[in-house]
Amino acid sequence: MSDPKPIVSCVRCHREAVPIGGVTYPGALGDELRERICAECWAEWQQAEVMVINELRLNFMDPRSQEVLIKHMREFLCLDGPPSGPPPGPPTEQP
Ligand SMILES: [Zn+2]
Repeated sequence: MSDPKPIVSCVRCHREAVPIGGVTYPGALGDELRERICAECWAEWQQAEVMVINELRLNFMDPRSQEVLIKHMREFLCLDGPPSGPPPGPPTEQP
């Protein structure tokens, strides 16, 4: 008898893949990440995260910066589904 490998159905890459090992964020957000995001996508975000932090000059001592970073993370990892907004199409001209 062997333990089944942990598998997560990743919302970003749509694969059955290895979940994130270890702790990402405390609380519900960390649970959500472990249940919905695979380790590979998380690794991709960790690289993107560095760029976001540098680009936006985020400061970890500032709670506001952490909020911004989490918002970017949720977008990057598609945690809230595809981006909402008007469907792409030709621009409508106003009379
Ligand atoms: Zn993934």
